[in-house]
Amino acid sequence: MFLPLTSCNPNMGIVIQLDHCSGLYQQHPRLTNPLVRRTQRRKLLVAQAVPSRTQRIMESISVTSEVGGAGGAYSYNALKRLDQIWSNICSTQTVSQEPQKVVVPNPGLLSNSDLAGKEVEKFDVVVCGGTLGIFIATALSAKGLRVGIVERNVLQGREQEWNISRKELLELVEVGVLTDEDIEQATSSKFNPNRCGFEDKGEIWVQDILNLGVSPAKLIDIVKSRFNSLGGVIFESCAVSSIRVYEDIATLQLAGGKILSCQLVLDAMGNFSPVVKQIRSGRKPDGVCLVVGTCAHGFRENSSSDVIYSSSSVEKIGDSEVQLFWEAFPAGSGPLDRTTYMFTYVQPRPGSPKLEELLESYWDLMPKYQGISLENVEIQRVIYGIFPTYRDSS
Ligand SMILES: Cc1cc2nc3c(=O)[nH]c(=O)nc-3n(C[C@H](O)[C@H](O)[C@H](O)COP(=O)(O)OP(=O)(O)OC[C@H]3O[C@@H](n4cnc5c(N)ncnc54)[C@H](O)[C@@H]3O)c2cc1C
Repeated sequence: MFLPLTSCNPNMGIVIQLDHCSGLYQQHPRLTNPLVRRTQRRKLLVAQAVPSRTQRIMESISVTSEVGGAGGAYSYNALKRLDQIWSNICSTQTVSQEPQKVVVPNPGLLSNSDLAGKEVEKFDVVVCGGTLGIFIATALSAKGLRVGIVERNVLQGREQEWNISRKELLELVEVGVLTDEDIEQATSSKFNPNRCGFEDKGEIWVQDILNLGVSPAKLIDIVKSRFNSLGGVIFESCAVSSIRVYEDIATLQLAGGKILSCQLVLDAMGNFSPVVKQIRSGRKPDGVCLVVGTCAHGFRENSSSDVIYSSSSVEKIGDSEVQLFWEAFPAGSGPLDRTTYMFTYVQPRPGSPKLEELLESYWDLMPKYQGISLENVEIQRVIYGIFPTYRDSS
């Protein structure tokens, strides 16, 4: 729902070219009486020591595989790290941080530069970021181009399914990336009909829209083999450090020092691409879609899906009032397993809800939305992400 797998991703551009506690007590006027101060201090320490419901739930689930790419991390620590990034975005004025200059134009030819002859491999195209990048890289290889992929992590898909329409996957068959058998092999769940509904405004039921759950792990594995068999080269565990654009060619310097050259660089490094940061001059996003959810076991009603559903009016979460939307679909891991996402759109400012605050509300609201009790479901994985958006999407 959030970013259909095959839709045009705006981040896939072409590069041509806590307060210290003791300090708090001293400043708070109500805490000047030593007795009050001690009591308050104890309460605060107790408050800090009690883990949130989210922390308890997340830390009770064993996290076996976390991968690169959006929604590929499931641990409580990773949630805290993302919430810190999100808080930093919210607290800054207009620029999140001065971006590093990753793409540097170089006048003249590569042969006249200090990098002449230093490149280890030459390509027609290098795709930076492999999670979705592998699909376009394979399509280009199938056309006879020599293509490389540079991926910061090991290139593998997450366990959590992507939902997608068959029609979108068929586009990948057309360009030689997938076969019909591959689609069958990677599809772990199929569901119809699919609901779009807004409280008190009625419902629209559709067929075949976002009605497949595909396993990113299987799908990427299949495409990785195809890419390799077409002569593609994958540089894993290699981050892109810099891209120099000469008059005749571009070079990419990878962390670790390797240098590649190519005619075309494609950026598929997702929402937090360093290239996108540079293009946007580190500008703070105008809006952000926040998403939290789970894949959980124990849903007896589990045949249809919600493409989008709004079950309530505005909710107060943290210091903000937000409109919540839902998405739900059967998971492939078993007939009673279901993915449910709760998402909202906010402006990034101090007081905007943190992902952990959204999850605290999710534990109350999801059971109401799905007509179940939280005690009767077994959470398999907690999922979350943030999607920055800009008014000027060019
Ligand atoms: C909770 C959640 C649920 C989602 N559900 C769906 C869904 O059901 N269906 C769907 O289609 N989409 C879904 N998405 C959207 C998801 O963002 C995309 O499916 C997909 O992960 C986007 O791929 P991407 O390659 O554009 O970006 P990312 O997934 O962010 O991948 C970027 C890649 O670039 C790599 N990278 C980053 N920096 C560097 C660097 N400097 N050098 C080299 N490599 C680098 C990363 O390691 C990563 O592999 C969901 C997202 C979230 C957070």
